[in-house]
Amino acid sequence: MKELIRLENVTKAFGDQVVLKGIDLEIYENEFVTLLGPSGCGKTTLLRIIGGFETPSSGNVTLMGKDLLSIPAHKRPTNTVFQRYALFPHLNVYENVAFGLRIKKDKDDKSTKKEKEAALDAKVTKYLSMVGLIGFEERNVYKLSGGQQQRVAIARALINEPKILLLDEPLAALDLKLRQEMQYELKEIQKNAGITFLYVTHDQEEALTMSDKIVVINEGEIQQIGSPEDIYNEPTNEFVAKFIGESNIIEGIMKDDYLVSWDEKDYHCVDYGFKKNEVIDIVLRPEDLDIVPEQEGYIDGVVDSVVFKGVHYEIDVKTLKRIYTIHTTDYHQEGKKVSITFDKEDIHVMEKW
Ligand code: ATP
Repeated sequence: MKELIRLENVTKAFGDQVVLKGIDLEIYENEFVTLLGPSGCGKTTLLRIIGGFETPSSGNVTLMGKDLLSIPAHKRPTNTVFQRYALFPHLNVYENVAFGLRIKKDKDDKSTKKEKEAALDAKVTKYLSMVGLIGFEERNVYKLSGGQQQRVAIARALINEPKILLLDEPLAALDLKLRQEMQYELKEIQKNAGITFLYVTHDQEEALTMSDKIVVINEGEIQQIGSPEDIYNEPTNEFVAKFIGESNIIEGIMKDDYLVSWDEKDYHCVDYGFKKNEVIDIVLRPEDLDIVPEQEGYIDGVVDSVVFKGVHYEIDVKTLKRIYTIHTTDYHQEGKKVSITFDKEDIHVMEKW
């Protein structure tokens, strides 16, 4: 994979408030990269630095090995899609998408006006088809639904064929069902366009669905960089584990390689490389735990609560030392005596945060 953008020790302060604290990040060609973190963690600021709308307080940013920070925003090979679509209300769908190319002046282009129109038409059609809006060319943009308007905004941003498309919570204004549909579509669009997407969201599900690489940020610092599977299955710390999904997080001791202990009981696990008797955190995902008859599992307890969640039941089991949350398709009555079991691969050991 070819490196497209590199950030080295990028910091940003607004007055006394340091919002980015030494960001190191590489983004490759054709990657779908998501900056994920809670509100105010600095993700939009990072996007704006790459787009040229903000300058870092210190650090370097390069694009294909060349300094990006010295290039003014309008000359950067970037384009941005915002949460609010900012379409031109007086132009129809076709002209909104064509706009980006019409204003682009190419001194070396010697083609006739007719040839230029034909080339433009081919591109508008290509990108309208990519976002599923063929047949909508003549429509007024303000008569479109929110999702359709956002597709126009995406086509308009793609038509210039930027090296990297910056997307700042572009689906946040849509309702849940449409947002979920658009998540799959965006990933398809990115693959078909062959353009790198840098996507900002605070929604972990969105990040897990679409990304090749997720960058989890908290308070201006990167917590973890990895594939959705890495981030979900092997969170590096408690912040990531909690932010990415519901979890049972338990303090324990790494007694030895492949041997972990919590609540005075030892378990075999697949983790190694920790110090002997290092205090660590353990993540047990609710969907990795199973309920079996009393005394047949590792930890006995009593069903404390049962909530039906559509596909599974969320069941809290109260044990002597703590409550475990379990997702299972099997129903268990409140008050029933049960036991909890899991595989050793499902014990995720993290360094203490
Ligand atoms: P959100 O999801 O809420 O947009 P975010 O993670 O994108 O959050 P940023 O928008 O990057 O966060 O903001 C990080 C911090 O920097 C916030 O505390 C914000 O108030 C502050 N901030 C951002 N832009 C400016 C600015 N131009 N001047 C002063 N403070 C700013």
